[in-house]
Amino acid sequence: MTLMISRMAARPFKLLSHLSSMHAPTPLLARQISMDAKGFASRLVSAGLLRNQGLIGGKWSDAYDGNTIKVHNPATGDVITTVPCMGLNETNDAISAAYNAFSSWSKVTAAERSKCLRKWYDLLISHKEELGQLITLEQGKPLQEAMGEVTYGAGFIEFFAEEAKRVYGDIIPSPLADRRMLVLKQPVGVVGAITPWNFPLAMITRKVGPALACGCTVVIKPSELTPLTALAAAELAVQAGIPPGVVNVVMGNASAIGDALLASPQVRKITFTGSTAVGKKLMAGAAGTVKKISLELGGNAPCIVFDDADLDVAVKGTLGAKFRNTGQTCVCANRIIVQEGIYEKFVDAFSKAVQKLQVGHGFSEGVVQGPLINEAAVQKVESFVKDATSKGAKVVLGAKRHSLGMTFYEPTVLSDVKSDMLIAREEVFGPVAPVLRFKTEDEALRMANDTNAGLAAYIFTNNVQRSWRVAEAEYGLVGVNEGLISTEVAPFGGVKQSGLGREGSKYGMDEYLEVKYVCLGNMSSN
Ligand code: NAP
Repeated sequence: MTLMISRMAARPFKLLSHLSSMHAPTPLLARQISMDAKGFASRLVSAGLLRNQGLIGGKWSDAYDGNTIKVHNPATGDVITTVPCMGLNETNDAISAAYNAFSSWSKVTAAERSKCLRKWYDLLISHKEELGQLITLEQGKPLQEAMGEVTYGAGFIEFFAEEAKRVYGDIIPSPLADRRMLVLKQPVGVVGAITPWNFPLAMITRKVGPALACGCTVVIKPSELTPLTALAAAELAVQAGIPPGVVNVVMGNASAIGDALLASPQVRKITFTGSTAVGKKLMAGAAGTVKKISLELGGNAPCIVFDDADLDVAVKGTLGAKFRNTGQTCVCANRIIVQEGIYEKFVDAFSKAVQKLQVGHGFSEGVVQGPLINEAAVQKVESFVKDATSKGAKVVLGAKRHSLGMTFYEPTVLSDVKSDMLIAREEVFGPVAPVLRFKTEDEALRMANDTNAGLAAYIFTNNVQRSWRVAEAEYGLVGVNEGLISTEVAPFGGVKQSGLGREGSKYGMDEYLEVKYVCLGNMSSN
């Protein structure tokens, strides 16, 4: 099988210039921000990385009925471009393409698959700046952070390029003299990969890297809010020589695409990152054809600061854990639980650090807090803050929309938050740090575990025994004296209603493999 694909002629890219602002910032600033963003968009067009069609069987494709959806810049409300609004028919064709490609891709040697992935990694890294700009443009995170996501996201492709060569089976010592017993690991087949908007690149590569390494083929459905990064990554996969049909991308009508993936017996695995509500629907839907499923769902991360913590380490760690991506990550500290002896000192030092966070357009120098993804996200934050303050929480900092307008919200610290407030029960998914108080280690553990979520938790303490005890709380990931813990080399995933399965690391491969037992009988006769 040839590993080269011809680059298909694409529809000329159309950059839409009209504004559809939801909340206008001050006119001068709005014009400046829009001009900057348009400059970056034009550069992306020249680099061939602003794709606005889906990818089915190696061909760039519009929706069959011609329908489109607009992709907005969350910082300005400008429409960046449109992408196809695809549904059932396009998804079924993408599944067929992936199914056909599976028969050859799964037979390609692991070494060859590894080489293709390595080439894809090299291309992602050599386009780090443009991909970072694209992420900032459609998702809003500051450029430095966006480029960090490219390094992180590409890291999964590099890591799994290496793991591709290490899919070992076993030989089991047979209990019967005339038999030999083998365990083979084989790719599951076609994978449907549904991803969210908050990490438009990394949530895709964390799934597609191991899937391709194992010999699976994929149909990716990125969020309609951030499809452009997925399409640029797919363009680079094509350039890397990954054969037609191995990577397909459809976007548009989420439930129609999801239903098509669930209904098809050719799709053998669904891997999903997103909200717990949608994850539960997919899990129920996967039962119809008994598919394998992995779910990376929402969190409600506790960040526990003990009296014996190093204050500077705790402030720095909590700041990173809370405000990364403007508070829009599943592992963001959602409840900062602080022991009474250090409570006032912590709130004071933490608020001073939060006050220094520069808010603005992601392309501006020095900005570390971008906009929220859309108006609905801001309204959710507002409703959580209102609920907390109406029940007695105190505003230490912020608690209102930022003067930049649009979807910018001020970095916020609330003290005297209680466990029954909405903000402590559910993910706020925004730049709001609610600080709760506790007396004893047992109470902290009870508070930490009092949730259906179980993704990330953070502990700040200088007591070694305590860090071991508390790290045994009901969470899939624990940072001890560290707020940024995600990496491609470690297993990522949740317990309880935060999900099923693990992504990243050698364990991430298991999600895309079937374990097969082969028994060779009649071995004693010749
Ligand atoms: P979401 O609303 O669940 O969307 C995630 C993806 O599912 C999007 O591509 C969405 O498409 C699609 N989708 C929505 N309804 C669907 C349906 N009926 N069938 C098939 N697909 C459907 O979540 P989100 O708001 O994008 O992301 C935020 C959530 O993701 C948070 O809860 C966060 O904690 C979680 N998250 C978890 C992890 C983790 O690793 N555990 C990582 C990142 C984020 P459209 O966008 O096109 O509607």
